[in-house]
Amino acid sequence: MKQTIESLPLVKEITDVLQQLGIKEVNPAYSTGLVWGGHEGRSTRTITSPADGNTIATVNMANADDYDQVVQTAQEAFKVWRKTPAPKRGEVVRQIGDRLRKHKEALGKLVSYEMGKIYQEGLGEVQEMIDICDFAVGLSRQLHGFTMHSERPQHRMYEQYHPLGIVGVISAFNFPVAVWSWNAMLAAVCGDVIIWKPSEKTPLTGVACQHIIREVLTENELPEGIFNLIIGDAEIGSLMSHDKRVPLVSATGSTHMGKKVGEAVGARLGKSLLELGGNNAIILTENADLEMALRAIVFGAVGTCGQRCTSTRRLIIHENIYDQVKERLLKVYPNLPIGHPLDSTTLIGPLIDKDAVNAFSNALEKVQQEGGTLLTGGEVLSGDGFETGTYVKPAIVEAENHYEMVQEETFAPILYLIKYSGEVENAIEIQNGVRQGLSSAIFSTSLLETEAFLSHWGSDCGIANVNIGTSGAEIGGAFGGEKETGGGRESGSDAWKVYMRRQTNTINYSRELPLAQGIKFDIMD
Ligand code: NAD
Repeated sequence: MKQTIESLPLVKEITDVLQQLGIKEVNPAYSTGLVWGGHEGRSTRTITSPADGNTIATVNMANADDYDQVVQTAQEAFKVWRKTPAPKRGEVVRQIGDRLRKHKEALGKLVSYEMGKIYQEGLGEVQEMIDICDFAVGLSRQLHGFTMHSERPQHRMYEQYHPLGIVGVISAFNFPVAVWSWNAMLAAVCGDVIIWKPSEKTPLTGVACQHIIREVLTENELPEGIFNLIIGDAEIGSLMSHDKRVPLVSATGSTHMGKKVGEAVGARLGKSLLELGGNNAIILTENADLEMALRAIVFGAVGTCGQRCTSTRRLIIHENIYDQVKERLLKVYPNLPIGHPLDSTTLIGPLIDKDAVNAFSNALEKVQQEGGTLLTGGEVLSGDGFETGTYVKPAIVEAENHYEMVQEETFAPILYLIKYSGEVENAIEIQNGVRQGLSSAIFSTSLLETEAFLSHWGSDCGIANVNIGTSGAEIGGAFGGEKETGGGRESGSDAWKVYMRRQTNTINYSRELPLAQGIKFDIMD
């Protein structure tokens, strides 16, 4: 099962990647796009790979003064950037996309090595960045509002969208770069400047992106302060959330974090875009194409080692096919190739750290105390190649939806099998019966069932798929979820509007001054 990597020239490979992407042994605490700051005298954090425990590099952690410096630089840059025509801003983003294409393999490898997802998924993540750049380039010519007819003669009404200012982006470890690009590339064409605080667990991919961006900014003779990076932990995120100079904070991470950010931003009546935890389910009805469904279930449940916000956590199966599905899954799970994420035969890499492993083990223990039955997996792997203690065997548990652990998002590969009987409505009720509302899916070839799932009394999630699993969204649609997932939308469709302020304009081209609603207000002179 385990693929050894001794044969891989890994050290050389990683050294080359770090060199190509400008990662130093010790990296400064912040960048304003052109200038790096915070070179010494800061606390440091050493980043090790969850794949093999080796040190990759060290980062300096920004302090409050660094943060303030970055905000001030960004404020100045905004004055220039907002005056740059949107299609010209789009041209800069186009060049960033091209530069990402050039560095796709190297950045994909670093994503894989720093975060632990397999190389194929690392490449996919960089491809998402490229895709959103392409999308943003087109968008830069389409930041349009509606026009309306006025009730008053010779009057015209329309709506326009203006840049907001500084957009703060707080990102999670599991999509260390894609989530930033979803926000940053749209915000940039909208005329905003961006301050990015990557996860403290995966800051090196952020440093790499900043080096890539720097090349483009330099070539275009742009000022510093448009794309900023600040490396820090929750404290820096908290400064951002409380800071009135940051009109929009886009935060991706746990619901616990989102509540704190939402409260702080809300208290100052700022805007927040929250992308938080999910508890995603696939419904398998009696009419499901099981061959298709099984592939989607396994990818959704164990891909990225269960560390996607859209990972499949619950499988709601009709009682008539329950035993068959269970049997098929129990055949597949023991043979899943677990190993080093840069080994091309691996499908499942490690969890991000030992805390995540403990959360996995604790969840399995608790769900069994509640009455759940562990059917397979759950072990923490040890021995040759698994010395880091971060590799686990994905687990399947028979459970009931109301169990406390089933109601929680455990960010690890645990799949809960839940049985339903009767009509699809019963399955939908179970699927909606959690606090989170990110992604959902149904596998069925019955139009009646799939349309019920998509109807206004169907899935209550931000994403509802038919005959496709819960994970692996495309950038063209708006991405986000309801309930405790936070309600935010980013990426495609009209998600760009959150990065702009909206203005309604009424223009009078007559020589009269009629008031709306026919109000008479004549001044006698
Ligand atoms: P996390 O909440 O621990 O951290 C996320 C980010 O928030 C980090 O940058 C962290 O430094 C920052 N942060 C933490 N506390 C903060 C505070 N009080 N104020 C400001 N910033 C703070 O999450 P994680 O472990 O990195 O990521 C996993 C979680 O992210 C999962 O719950 C997953 O579902 C969620 N996620 C959601 C989406 C989505 O689009 N809905 C996408 C990816 C990940």
